[in-house]
Amino acid sequence: MNFYTTILGSGAALPTGGRHCSAQMLNINGFRLLIDCAEGTQLRMRECHQRLQSVNTILISHLHGDHCFGLPGLLSTLHLCGRTDELTIVCPTGLQEALDTLFSITGNHIDYHINYIELQHTDGRVCCIENKHCLVEAFPLVHTVPTYGFKITEKPRGKNRPRTYAYCCDTAFDPRIATYVEGVDLLCTECTFANELASLAEQRLHLTAGQAATIATQAGVGQLLLTHISARYKDPSILLQQASQVYANTLIAADGDIVEVKTKNENSVPKRIDNENDEHGAEKNLLLKKEKV
Ligand SMILES: [Zn+2]
Ligand SMILES: [Zn+2]
Repeated sequence: MNFYTTILGSGAALPTGGRHCSAQMLNINGFRLLIDCAEGTQLRMRECHQRLQSVNTILISHLHGDHCFGLPGLLSTLHLCGRTDELTIVCPTGLQEALDTLFSITGNHIDYHINYIELQHTDGRVCCIENKHCLVEAFPLVHTVPTYGFKITEKPRGKNRPRTYAYCCDTAFDPRIATYVEGVDLLCTECTFANELASLAEQRLHLTAGQAATIATQAGVGQLLLTHISARYKDPSILLQQASQVYANTLIAADGDIVEVKTKNENSVPKRIDNENDEHGAEKNLLLKKEKV
């Protein structure tokens, strides 16, 4: 069975031609979790051949625009396209009020039920979703507004050990993060700045490449995936280089990448979404046929 993430956007703060802002679709054996939803995410889903109505649950790390400004548009499109299935949104406190206010003032109406799970804990890892596909836990990060990381564990499949994925974006360096993501198979963290900009990272509560890799080392993860890349890095190889010096098994995300969550002794090699001949390409063709919206 499949457990993989499709990177819809891998950029920090400002969308650029090459990178859209944060959003990724995690597929856990058919269950679809959208993680963050920056401006333009619904278009990115179409471009990356993700059926809009297929999203089961949305996880929002924090309320900065580059992580959630795509939500009103996506939620509204789901309504216009006739969604009846309930949608769960896990997010920091305040998002429901903001969206309800926006929809009410603008006279937009959402017919399907949205089940908000608002987070406000300041310590430890808490379970926010558990179903037959996966367990999702949230843990606090250190950023300028309340921010949560997520750990997603698939439900056991036969004799195989359940695989785990964690997402940490946005955050400053904090030794507690390594305890929250200890031993995960694939860790996706923000990597906004190169090591030379450590003081800027500290001031804005973001990670440098070296710090992201230090978390991966301390946590003993299987593989590290860097995302939330500052628009200043047209060529992000410096970030990969600096992180790899601390933690060798590091990948850097590009928009459109598909990265599989594999057990620790197998490594993932990202695939680009436009490859028609791989298994995801076959799925894409199937989805395009089914897509009605
Ligand atoms: Zn951000
Ligand atoms: Zn932020």
